[in-house]
Amino acid sequence: MDAHYDAVIIGAGPAGSSTAILLARKGWRVALIEKALFPRRKVCGECIAASNMPLLDALGIGHAARDLAGAPLRNVALIFQDRMVRAGLPRFNDRRHPWGYALGRESLDTLLLEQAANAGASVFCPWTALAMEKAPEHMSCTIQEARSRETRILAAPVVIAACGSWETHHRAIHASSGGPDVRTALAGPQSDRHRSDLFAFKANFTSTTLQNGVLPVLSFPGGYGGMVVEGRSIATLAFCVRRDTLAACRQAKRGATAAEAAFAYVMQACREVDLMLAGSERLGPWLSIGPIRPGVRLAKNSGALFMVGNAAGEAHPIIGEGISMAIQGAWLLAEALLAQKPEALRSKEHQDSVQRKYVVAWRRAFLPRIRLAAAFAHIAMRPALMGAMFPILERHPWLLTHAAAWSGKVEGSFLPENKTRYNAES
Ligand SMILES: Cc1cc2nc3c(=O)[nH]c(=O)nc-3n(C[C@H](O)[C@H](O)[C@H](O)COP(=O)(O)OP(=O)(O)OC[C@H]3O[C@@H](n4cnc5c(N)ncnc54)[C@H](O)[C@@H]3O)c2cc1C
Repeated sequence: MDAHYDAVIIGAGPAGSSTAILLARKGWRVALIEKALFPRRKVCGECIAASNMPLLDALGIGHAARDLAGAPLRNVALIFQDRMVRAGLPRFNDRRHPWGYALGRESLDTLLLEQAANAGASVFCPWTALAMEKAPEHMSCTIQEARSRETRILAAPVVIAACGSWETHHRAIHASSGGPDVRTALAGPQSDRHRSDLFAFKANFTSTTLQNGVLPVLSFPGGYGGMVVEGRSIATLAFCVRRDTLAACRQAKRGATAAEAAFAYVMQACREVDLMLAGSERLGPWLSIGPIRPGVRLAKNSGALFMVGNAAGEAHPIIGEGISMAIQGAWLLAEALLAQKPEALRSKEHQDSVQRKYVVAWRRAFLPRIRLAAAFAHIAMRPALMGAMFPILERHPWLLTHAAAWSGKVEGSFLPENKTRYNAES
């Protein structure tokens, strides 16, 4: 064994770094393992809902994040074919920060990782968690440095999987000797059922005519997406396309990459997007991942292995709530863990009691968002349904405001001072 910690956290996305900050601040010895070299870009629409602003402040990066972000997000638009309807976003009940922001993941995730180090976490980046093993009194995690291939074994009473969901866990981290509960948790209890047929793409653009502070949501046959200005006048376009639609796009644009073919299709399907990007220039390469895995993976019986962020569960990205669920999930997990002394978590009884408390709180907070997002995604990808709904939204655009609120955008029950919900006046 090379080193002992109170918790080993795998993955330094918003879920892992936020958990690391909260535990390290309370004196826990935390190891945070991240395989990518930071800063790194990521497939994401990069919108951070207003409800996270007090949490980012509490994590100590609120000012820095807002300084780098685009204008406050005050409006939402829905783009379908050549039509667009626009409405105000719901106002969060916090006088200092009533609106959300958009910020590139290369900035947000780096701020959080640096803050985890400042809080006292030992950061291993770029190191990959390769394997996990369960011993009677602790978990051990084998990690490997990206360049030198040096390996180390870290031990802790608990391991926290914050490694996202877009690489299948059982392939990403080997747990052959981890015992049945750990293996089930890493694979996801119903992993195959949760593998969707959606592939996701993202690119950044300069010189667009997209208005700063507006969040257009795109609906097109076989997919959905979103656009936003994320700071420094850089626009992000991120979208998901169903497998059969992607195959048809590639057939129509032979020789093009999947991202280029899908992008051409989105521009053709949503005239407004084409207009906003006319004359723009792409910054950096397209990023792609998939298939994404909306659904719940959290299990009460995973013993010393805790899951947070996308590793725990994920909503269809049409509602842009994944960063919220990652940061807010970190709050719920840290609250449950900190109710115990780290050494108490060596016992299965204490682990199970923390798991139960955490899973109940997590499901209460996030299941409604996951279900609503699935319904919105279903409608957005089907032109017959969206075609029937669009005239209603044109007549009553405030329905979009409420849809954003129902999606959790202004759900503020994570800090005591933000217990109240939202103010729909925009
Ligand atoms: C198209 C699209 C658009 C989206 N738009 C939005 C949006 O606008 N707003 C929003 O809130 N959410 C959005 N999301 C969702 C959001 O991106 C995710 O929910 C969020 O990134 C989850 O955070 P996380 O910390 O759980 O995981 P991640 O951000 O995926 O971080 C996991 C980290 O773990 C690391 N890792 C993985 N395996 C290992 C290993 N074995 N060892 C070490 N490190 C490892 C990875 O390198 C990564 O850095 C979108 C998603 C998609 C697909």
